[in-house]
Amino acid sequence: MAISIPSRQLFIDGEWREPVLKKRIPIVNPATEETIGSIPAATAEDVELAVDAARKALARNKGKDWASASGALRAKYLRAIAAKITERKSELAKLETIDCGKPLEEAAWDIDDVAGCFEYYADLAEGLDAKQKAPVSVPMDTFKSHVLKEPIGVVGLITPWNYPLLMAAWKVAPALAAGCAAILKPSELASVTCLELGEICKDVGLPSGILNILTGFGPEAGAPLASHPHVDKIAFTGSCATGSKIMTAAAQLVKPVTMELGGKSPIVVFDDVDLDKAAEWTIFGCFWTNGQICSATSRLLVHESIADEFLDRLVKWCQNIKISDPLEEGCRLGPVVSAGQYEKVLNFVSTAEREGAKILFGGVRPKHLKKGYFVEPAIVTNVTTSMQLWREEVFGPVLCVKTFSSEDEAIELANDTIYGLGAAVISNDLERCERVTKALQAGIVWVNCSQPCFTQAPWGGNKRSGFGRELGEWGLDNYLTVKQVTEYVSDEPW
Ligand code: NAD
Repeated sequence: MAISIPSRQLFIDGEWREPVLKKRIPIVNPATEETIGSIPAATAEDVELAVDAARKALARNKGKDWASASGALRAKYLRAIAAKITERKSELAKLETIDCGKPLEEAAWDIDDVAGCFEYYADLAEGLDAKQKAPVSVPMDTFKSHVLKEPIGVVGLITPWNYPLLMAAWKVAPALAAGCAAILKPSELASVTCLELGEICKDVGLPSGILNILTGFGPEAGAPLASHPHVDKIAFTGSCATGSKIMTAAAQLVKPVTMELGGKSPIVVFDDVDLDKAAEWTIFGCFWTNGQICSATSRLLVHESIADEFLDRLVKWCQNIKISDPLEEGCRLGPVVSAGQYEKVLNFVSTAEREGAKILFGGVRPKHLKKGYFVEPAIVTNVTTSMQLWREEVFGPVLCVKTFSSEDEAIELANDTIYGLGAAVISNDLERCERVTKALQAGIVWVNCSQPCFTQAPWGGNKRSGFGRELGEWGLDNYLTVKQVTEYVSDEPW
């Protein structure tokens, strides 16, 4: 069934509002290269309105139904949002697919995860009530101390395009659960489902101004949000380069930030594995979501004694997968998100080849597809540690491969990166897995798998992959401050 993109404006103070400068950005379907609609382009003028709406919403609702109200009340809204998302699942998944190119089946998983994320933080919002006034033991009985957890205030949430609604949910759900008012700035490359979240908030009667959604370009809409003096915190997911700019702006105001940045994650395959299972995780770990995953295990380190046989299996898989319009049933690999990303991915492969790497498979447009930003999954060997492909994040379906001969060498190669987001180890020797897990410099380590992600478990990186953790209780803490309350309880004069 054909799906049309709803025409939306900016979502400010519970209403759809045309951007002050009336500019719009075309939406291009990456599978067809056709313009299929447009999104509003916010600028600093709209940021002003949204920040004002968010601040007023917190003041208006003080002591009533938001920041100082019970978590149980906020949980009701979060559950209502989750229910609406589930009700609109099939439509939202299709919108996600035509906006960013991911296979429809994967988009449907994402929408389930979005609903699950709102449900989960509804539970945590309720749990917050019981955690208030937690006593702190102090060494003088003339004093009593306890702790209050309070919302940080107005938060700016800046997100990327690879999981448009899911990355927004990872921030919006805990921010609202904590009692903050939020301004979401999704990526200009994929904002359609995030705008639908505005419609959902209207449907469930979320108090106006508690969630505002500003679509637009980074420098025009994201930068003024990051540097706004009345935004109390920025939570960012995106590239290392943009994260650094946001940190610089936030530093001027000593504004707290959390940073979920890029990666160049390794997958280490030892010689005692079941080759089929290991191949499956290697493929999934690198090529899921068309290879555009922050934690993609895009550096394969394989033991030299099994390398040839293992690579044969990977190549066979690549030869047989269905690359097609991502709306088609059975599509396993869709297009990358944009013309710019397409050029970038092809450039990475051709540069690696020029530098002496061997393209074992792919890295080019599939012959049967004349339109769309499609790239065959690439497997690249003869890679050296000085090559750009080894060091930099591609954010596309490209796997680079090196062999190793010992556990120590594998660990050294795995950690040979400025990033530290994810890492995977595949071996039947569980003691070895434990040793290697401890040695890997990453925020997330997968053992005998790659990429599974659960709302309950902490997510985030080390080194230049960022700091702070999303999801789980850690995600909620991102939007809370801790207030120490100490009372003098003695009748005696001090
Ligand atoms: P990006 O950095 O180009 O953009 C991310 C967001 O920042 C967008 O909304 C963009 O408009 C905005 N932005 C751009 N310039 C800005 C500025 N000067 N000030 C404020 N905001 C600005 O990243 P992208 O291309 O959208 O996403 C891909 C990157 O995101 C990859 O590096 C990927 O690894 C990373 N990512 C990380 C995680 C994680 O959990 N660590 C998850 C998903 C994606």
